[in-house]
Amino acid sequence: MFQSAYLNDLMARVVARNAGEPEFHQAVREVLESLEPVLARHPEYVESGVLERLVEPERIIKFRVPWVNDEGRVVVNRGFRVQFNSAIGPYKGGLRFHPSVYEGIIKFLGFEQVFKNSLTGLPIGGGKGGSDFDPKGKSEGEVMRFCQSFMTELYKYIGKDEDVPAGDIGVGGREIGYLYGQYKRITGLYEGVLTGKGLTYGGSLARKEATGYGLCYFTDAMLRDAGKSFAGARVIISGSGNVAIYACEKATELGAMVVAMSDSNGYIVDEDGIDLAALKEIKEVRRGRIREYLKDHPKATYTEGCRGIFTVPCDIALPSATQNEIDEASAEALVRGGTYAVAEGANMPSTPEAIEVFRRAGVLFAPAKASNAGGVATSALEMTQNSERLSWTFDEVDRKLKGIMENIYHNAAATAKEYGMEGNLVAGANIAGFLKVADAMMAQGVV
Ligand code: NDP
Repeated sequence: MFQSAYLNDLMARVVARNAGEPEFHQAVREVLESLEPVLARHPEYVESGVLERLVEPERIIKFRVPWVNDEGRVVVNRGFRVQFNSAIGPYKGGLRFHPSVYEGIIKFLGFEQVFKNSLTGLPIGGGKGGSDFDPKGKSEGEVMRFCQSFMTELYKYIGKDEDVPAGDIGVGGREIGYLYGQYKRITGLYEGVLTGKGLTYGGSLARKEATGYGLCYFTDAMLRDAGKSFAGARVIISGSGNVAIYACEKATELGAMVVAMSDSNGYIVDEDGIDLAALKEIKEVRRGRIREYLKDHPKATYTEGCRGIFTVPCDIALPSATQNEIDEASAEALVRGGTYAVAEGANMPSTPEAIEVFRRAGVLFAPAKASNAGGVATSALEMTQNSERLSWTFDEVDRKLKGIMENIYHNAAATAKEYGMEGNLVAGANIAGFLKVADAMMAQGVV
């Protein structure tokens, strides 16, 4: 329940108009809760219908993706692109290939992306897309044929100044390559229409590392403000994909010991610190399962079931797998295990009940739309390099990324303070992200 009758009514309409999409409702509710004090100070946002427009995507594209598997059978998946908001720049946001994908997941991710992209300070609007296709267990040929079919429809709606997709769960360098090849073949254009590209065809150095590194830069700024640091800290990271692997790399570089990581089947604990080279070999090269880590690390343990990772005692938790992976019970387990900081690498990995547990326990909490913005920020840097037809060095990109993440932290922290909620980075990030988009929407009239 909101204090404002206007927000109660708006939220009720969002739920009624987007029935059966709980993740989208959750994301909208969290932002509207943060905006209550802003609307009290700025009634003009209400009067000009900014919020009604903000919760409605500008466009939803939904399409059939037919392809032929290795047995010669036709398989039909569903493709989505939600172009949520272009007030401050072309739509930008990843593509997710995972069997759980449906319209509500893409809408929640697209909505979050609007605020996240605004926080980066770069000129990018918000969008998201994907498919219920599962790349896991598919042959190279099947993945390529699927990507080609997906792009054969999507290409009509995207372009370097219009909508620039990137990767997300299940979409890494391999998938981006196949998607890019098909876009180029159909349109004849060699342009920066996708980010996360390979380095030989327009990709940016440090893009692969960006979300995980950025998460650690943000967390480091938050810890330092509280008189703490990664040095000597015991860290757990859920997931073992793109975000988790590079969060592990940077946290270790900053002096932490990462003792546990997971995949969707289970989690490993290595009290000597995760051997990242071995994990990369399993996950990035062999596309294997995390339990294979035990073959060369007999002292490590593997436990079936991915949620158990949050019962491993730690100082800092970096959830980097998927939405709603930390529920109330997992949050309580973390607090019991001595966790004093949680920074979200995945999108919306903590349920509202979990966030409430962290708040009550005084845990430092970094919300995803601020702490995992490094990926999209670096994607925007890739777009700039493509436009200039230049390639920056790794250090140049990494330095810019670090600066952007520190700015996001200070902006969110200062905004929270300005609105009387010092230390509440959820509210600070939501408000700071909102203000820029809302002002641009007001300036552009009712569109
Ligand atoms: P990847 O596909 O590279 O890795 C995802 C990881 O999470 C894998 O270890 C996967 O395990 C695990 N996982 C996925 N779904 C589930 C599930 N339902 N339950 C438990 N574990 C699961 O994805 P990314 O690392 O790119 O993305 C991870 C999160 O970070 C997502 O929330 C994404 O939206 C977010 N993110 C990603 C960005 C990026 O630049 N890549 C940018 C900003 C946010 P398994 O291999 O067993 O499936």
